[in-house]
Amino acid sequence: MRRFAGIEFGGTKVVVAFGQGPGDLSEPIRIATTTPAETLRRVEAVLEAGFSEQGFDTIGVASFGPVGLDRTNADFGRILATPKAGWSGADILDPLRRFGVPIGLATDVGGAALAEGRWGACQGLSDHVYVTVGTGVGMGIVANGALVHGVLHPEAGHLPMRRDPARDPFAGACPFHGGCLEGLISGPAIAARIGRPGETLLSDDPVWELVAEYLAQMAASLTYVLAPQRIVIGGGVGGMPALLNRARARLKPELGGYLKHLDDADAIADYLVGPGLGGRSGVLGAIAIAAVASANPPSPRG
Ligand code: ZN
Repeated sequence: MRRFAGIEFGGTKVVVAFGQGPGDLSEPIRIATTTPAETLRRVEAVLEAGFSEQGFDTIGVASFGPVGLDRTNADFGRILATPKAGWSGADILDPLRRFGVPIGLATDVGGAALAEGRWGACQGLSDHVYVTVGTGVGMGIVANGALVHGVLHPEAGHLPMRRDPARDPFAGACPFHGGCLEGLISGPAIAARIGRPGETLLSDDPVWELVAEYLAQMAASLTYVLAPQRIVIGGGVGGMPALLNRARARLKPELGGYLKHLDDADAIADYLVGPGLGGRSGVLGAIAIAAVASANPPSPRG
């Protein structure tokens, strides 16, 4: 039996667990994300203990972004320019290389997409997308069974949106684009729009109708470009109970009847869904990344 080490690097905490999936997972260990040096030292100590207790033969890392994913590039495994103090350029793989086992690396949303495909809402599918809407908007895309990343991981959170200023006068909060998807519907964007935390919004507030409309625009774009079999929407904002149904209702008029396989409410309900793994999708994402790396090992130096 293979035993994987999964490490989920988050902006506020790092979660480490050992195992092979939801039915075989050690109690996750949480480490506060402080400075890179201190955080990585503590991660290394947890791995050290896990390695001497039961061993592991592959490490999977699911990281917050932006992070270098091109193995041929000098910035591979490094956090790229980030507002998170001290972390720009940090090499998160460096303390892991001493174990001499293959290391798989992907973004946290990429890992969650893989995990939903293996064990969650997209089991048995080869083409699916995981979207998280929370502090930002992230996207993990699985095509032909593998994560999509080219020069960089997909940044579909910055898709341009069609906004009617008469109905939505809020110009958006993205520092780069204003009213891109993230600039219109992330948690901070919603707070900027209403002048108070989004958690205070009632479920029937008209703001949700706008958020749903932008999610439907996003889903239509993903549908046309990628032709996925299913789209999962999660995250602190994306997981709001009333939101998913509103987005489903908006998707049909957004597609305008063009795609016959998505022309009725039942088909759309099966297409635009919530996550199947809930709060464990992050660390299970890291385990799924390890499983992929184990099946197709990159260089141990990787
Ligand atoms: Zn943007």
